[in-house]
Amino acid sequence: MEDGKPVWAPHPTEGFQLGLIVDIGADSLTIEPLNHKGKVSCSLMYLNEATLLHNVRVRYSKDKIYTFVANILIAVNPYYDIPKLYSPETIKMFQGRSLGTLPPHVYAIADKAYRDMKVLKMSQSIIVSGESGAGKTENTKFILNIIIWNSISSFKILANPLLEAFGNAKTVRNNNSSRFGKFVEIHFNEKNAVVGGFVSHYLLEKSRICMQSPEERNYHIFYRLCAGASEDIRQMLHLGSPDSFRYLNRGCTRYFASNDSDKQIIQNRKSPEVHPERPSTRRPGTSGNQDQTLEHCAELLGLDQDDLRVSLTTRVMLTTAGGAKGTVIKVPLKVEQANNARDALAKAIYSRLFDHVVKRVNQCFPFEMSSTFIGVLDIAGFEYFEHNSFEQFCINYCNEKLQQFFNERILKEEQELYQKEGLGVNEVRYVDNQDCIDLVEAKLVGVLDILDEENRLPQPSDQHFAEAVHSKHKDHFRLTVPRKSKLAVHRNLRDDEGFIIRHFAGAVCYETTQFVEKNNDALHMSLECLVCESKDKFVKDLFESLNNSKDSKQKAGKLSFISVGNKFKTQLNLLLEKLCSTGSSFIRCIKPNLKMVSHQFEGAQILSQLQCSGMVSVLDLMQGGFPSRAPFHELYNMYKQYMPSKLTRLDPRLFCKALFKALGLNENDYKFGLTRVFFRPGKFAEFDQIMKSD
Ligand code: ATP
Ligand code: MG
Repeated sequence: MEDGKPVWAPHPTEGFQLGLIVDIGADSLTIEPLNHKGKVSCSLMYLNEATLLHNVRVRYSKDKIYTFVANILIAVNPYYDIPKLYSPETIKMFQGRSLGTLPPHVYAIADKAYRDMKVLKMSQSIIVSGESGAGKTENTKFILNIIIWNSISSFKILANPLLEAFGNAKTVRNNNSSRFGKFVEIHFNEKNAVVGGFVSHYLLEKSRICMQSPEERNYHIFYRLCAGASEDIRQMLHLGSPDSFRYLNRGCTRYFASNDSDKQIIQNRKSPEVHPERPSTRRPGTSGNQDQTLEHCAELLGLDQDDLRVSLTTRVMLTTAGGAKGTVIKVPLKVEQANNARDALAKAIYSRLFDHVVKRVNQCFPFEMSSTFIGVLDIAGFEYFEHNSFEQFCINYCNEKLQQFFNERILKEEQELYQKEGLGVNEVRYVDNQDCIDLVEAKLVGVLDILDEENRLPQPSDQHFAEAVHSKHKDHFRLTVPRKSKLAVHRNLRDDEGFIIRHFAGAVCYETTQFVEKNNDALHMSLECLVCESKDKFVKDLFESLNNSKDSKQKAGKLSFISVGNKFKTQLNLLLEKLCSTGSSFIRCIKPNLKMVSHQFEGAQILSQLQCSGMVSVLDLMQGGFPSRAPFHELYNMYKQYMPSKLTRLDPRLFCKALFKALGLNENDYKFGLTRVFFRPGKFAEFDQIMKSD
């Protein structure tokens, strides 16, 4: 804040704005904005969120969408194809070059992973995160492309189009939004040639199968089938226009183009169809002809029509009281309950179908000969919407775990290195989020176990679950009861129907309505028994494979609760174990604006994404830290040619000391560790410049 020096002042839409201090009051400063186009430039010597944002903004305006902060890559979605950015020539340029010697690029990260795997003989992982529409899946594809291109093998990933057809959908945030998380492993043999692949998938969004918000769609596959199936398949599956299906006609039903390509921009809903829709006289799935719909469903599922009708409209129960205790009775369902049963069946079929698709993809790329792998994680970032439910709860729990991993890798390891090298720099403080993770996943007292306990009660309720959470964690720093106003304002909810968790990226209010239902993957007994008896082998297998670990059908039929939350917890812990055993890189994807258009940089929005991704703590570390480092012997070998022979007789450490003294380098800019020299941000490059120009 020296006189006349510009400062970064917070700004509601830009994030930060550069200005001059014109008045200093008792508790405020008056700042006069400077024109961005003016000559004032800020140096990344002073690393903070304002200068980072500025740097990303300037680079974005020049189509430089990638930026490195230490070894973390920030990737801003350009929302248009930047010429040559991913061309074969560009790929070639990046191969085998060290990070930092070429402009920042997703290829640099991919190539580093490949080289590290080769040199260190160690598996690698790349963690791609960011909010919906930020570009995670696109960047994941670029990485997989270059990794596969890199190898001599002709192996091609055919998996992506399939997974996207079944697992992606148009949402208001992204026309091709992945509604599941995935970890894709490319496996290599000892000679570093690709030998196979494996995909793990997480948390497919099931609610979308039965219900879509306005302007959103169900999974792409349905529209593609309606648009592109051959006549015999249309007949066989009783296909019609998407408008004629209850599960497709709630939101937006428009086709993309005839090939329903990912990059198509969807026109306004009211605009004419871009696909020449085939005429359809049948209107399946609607209430028009319920008997015919039932008949078609029963036929396609290999079930008896009457059995299906009865199973959807009644529930089998065992009497628990009186003389007839233990007798099986059929209780008719109310309309709403029957609708729920139908939806539950549809969701169960689709999610098991998705499991099956992934399983089949994996069978195509076996990897018995694998010695190492490169894994890319493409999973939704921290989410905070107006209404947050079980899905957000799970994804934010996942992000707490990934953030902890990030902290450990980037911050803790960095700090440990400083200590090991005896640098004597101040410890960098960061907030450990283990308490938040425990709050969710601890045995018995964690929210997930409390929820499971609720699911096992004879009459579980979302409200009782919320009460249990509050009573078990009355004084927990991370958990609070929502203020009445907060929940009640929009939806007339009671304040005991939710809880607030203070996450690393901010506090989120979860509404517990439907938590119990969403946490249960089991169908009710009559439906489960029904589909397990299907005459269609495929349908039967979908359901049996899940239950065949139980010894008998009878037992399988009785499964009334399969925990979604705890399954995810187990998967997530396995994933983290895997990540911990690999070398890792991070890509933070940024969505530049909500309109999904090119050349528009919404500063405040972007700033909040940088904060959520943990980049600010990285900056703190770097501000007080030494991001570049080089072993003494490397410096010796690099620069001995420029030095008189008197100096080169010294051992590498003394050589470096003498060299730095002779050059008159500022002692604040570097530090000598036990095995290497550490440089302040940007100082290694400066030093290198001096050496080469002298
Ligand atoms: P979600 O969490 O919803 O799956 P995401 O982070 O995976 O979102 P993407 O599907 O990768 O987001 O990107 C959204 C859209 O942005 C893409 O369909 C594409 O049109 C555009 N896009 C993303 N990255 C790039 C890029 N590097 N170049 C050009 N366009 C891009
Ligand atoms: Mg995606």
